[in-house]
Amino acid sequence: MFLQDIDVIDVDLCVQQPEKFIAHTRASADLSAVTPYLNAMFRTAAYNHDDRSIRFTSDRVEYTIIREQVNIAKFANRTELHELLDWFKDLVNDIYDSRGEMTPMYECRKPVPVFFIYNLLPKTNCRMCGEKSCMVFAALLNKLEADIDACPPLSEPKYAENRHKLEVAFA
Ligand code: SF4
Repeated sequence: MFLQDIDVIDVDLCVQQPEKFIAHTRASADLSAVTPYLNAMFRTAAYNHDDRSIRFTSDRVEYTIIREQVNIAKFANRTELHELLDWFKDLVNDIYDSRGEMTPMYECRKPVPVFFIYNLLPKTNCRMCGEKSCMVFAALLNKLEADIDACPPLSEPKYAENRHKLEVAFA
């Protein structure tokens, strides 16, 4: 197995969300072997090819990897941290085992800007998407944590052109 263990070195309180935590961990392997593949998988990842570091978000949890160092940001408790570590370990090992069938990506993509997205939304703050405002929904789309289909008004004929522009931007 490529990644055998991840040891938790330290846990801090999150400054922005004091009810959440950030873990500093050390992997048993140099993860720069898999970061170009993580970059290919996670469209909003920030990847640096000079040191092969990466930061990506999955299910609103942020992972930052620099070789053996892995920081995991914004989890609620120790149980969740252990679930996240298991998920992360499986992800890394699956990628490592399948890397012959995958295409790595060595460039950092540009995310679709939040205001570009916001300007194409209906801007009614109707909350049908489950978020408290169109701006919040735009921020989630920017991080690929929401889907265009979650905004029902965008399917109305009067927003067809806006919806098409969004679909092109996220294609
Ligand atoms: S459903 Fe669409 S229009 Fe309504 S708040 Fe969400 S993003 Fe805005």
